[in-house]
Amino acid sequence: MKPLSYSSPPKQSNVAQNIRSLCLDALSTRPLLDRLREHPLAVILMFHGFYADDESVAYSSEGKHLAVSSFARLLGLLKRHFQPIHLRELIASLRNGAPLPPNALVLTFDDGYESNFRVAYPLLMKVQVPATIFLATEFVDENTPMWTERLEFALARSSKDHLILPSAEEDKPISLATPSERATALGKVKKILKSLPHPELLNQVDALEDQLGVRLTRGDLLPYQRSLNWDQCREMADSGLVDFGGHTHSHCILGRVEPDLARKEIQTCRRIIEDRLNIDGGLFCYPNGKPGDYSEICAKSLSEEGYSCALTTEEGYVNRDSDPYALHRIGISDRDDPKWTLLQATGSLPRLKRLLGRMQTAEKEAL
Ligand SMILES: [Zn+2]
Repeated sequence: MKPLSYSSPPKQSNVAQNIRSLCLDALSTRPLLDRLREHPLAVILMFHGFYADDESVAYSSEGKHLAVSSFARLLGLLKRHFQPIHLRELIASLRNGAPLPPNALVLTFDDGYESNFRVAYPLLMKVQVPATIFLATEFVDENTPMWTERLEFALARSSKDHLILPSAEEDKPISLATPSERATALGKVKKILKSLPHPELLNQVDALEDQLGVRLTRGDLLPYQRSLNWDQCREMADSGLVDFGGHTHSHCILGRVEPDLARKEIQTCRRIIEDRLNIDGGLFCYPNGKPGDYSEICAKSLSEEGYSCALTTEEGYVNRDSDPYALHRIGISDRDDPKWTLLQATGSLPRLKRLLGRMQTAEKEAL
């Protein structure tokens, strides 16, 4: 079997990097940023895991784990341009109309990675920025890998040079000869699997592991892939700075399962969080969180089960008229410079694009 062959995504040339960095510096100066930024009620940022700068990370984790140095820089920038608040404060304001500070910002971490405690929590404590962690409760204390990690591992470690996708429409073998072909294959497989009901999805992951001849075990997990345990959750909850919400029990995509099973997932994660952490477990975040991954039936079940909100992965901001059971967020990627992330969070980039578009149109009309 091949050794672990994790590698980084292709890097930009030094010249391109320098130009990009100069543009980001210019755009993120305070007066310009204040002119360009959007002013929603609040911005919710979505993180997953983190890693120490000397840890190795699979390229195929799609940038969802952030280097600690990037997170530290980003927190510094965010504190300068936003007012961090607790998610519960935002939800209360949405429901009762209470005012929020200008430029309110909420940090959320999905899935329950141990790195939330080991890497992110000390930084949050240092700068006193609150965050909410959404737990898929089946994985807490267990270190059983999620299906996405099993696939990433199998595709990184397999000695096979091709893969047959689990789809009737795409039955031709696809090449696994290079890291970038493996990354493409991973993206395709994930897309196909995410459209399946959860039990079938798990069967397909088993079949793919058999096909690739690699099966991820607990012992293979890299430090950044490990799950939180309840002692770590309790310590963070006791700090008053870190809050917890549900992310289903098994991390199943609610819109792809029967309503009864969806309701069971919603009930189970809340009961476990409340039992283990002695807090109100009424915050929720949809796994995968794209349109079709949740539905009005899910929102109704959440409301009936006493949840006060549900967060999606759809990109956008929170305003007074936002649906509390379909709140949009801004996803954070390790592949982005922290200043780029700041411009995204403030809404300056889309605004700049619109302004440039209007200028181009005006120029064309003047000719
Ligand atoms: Zn998730």
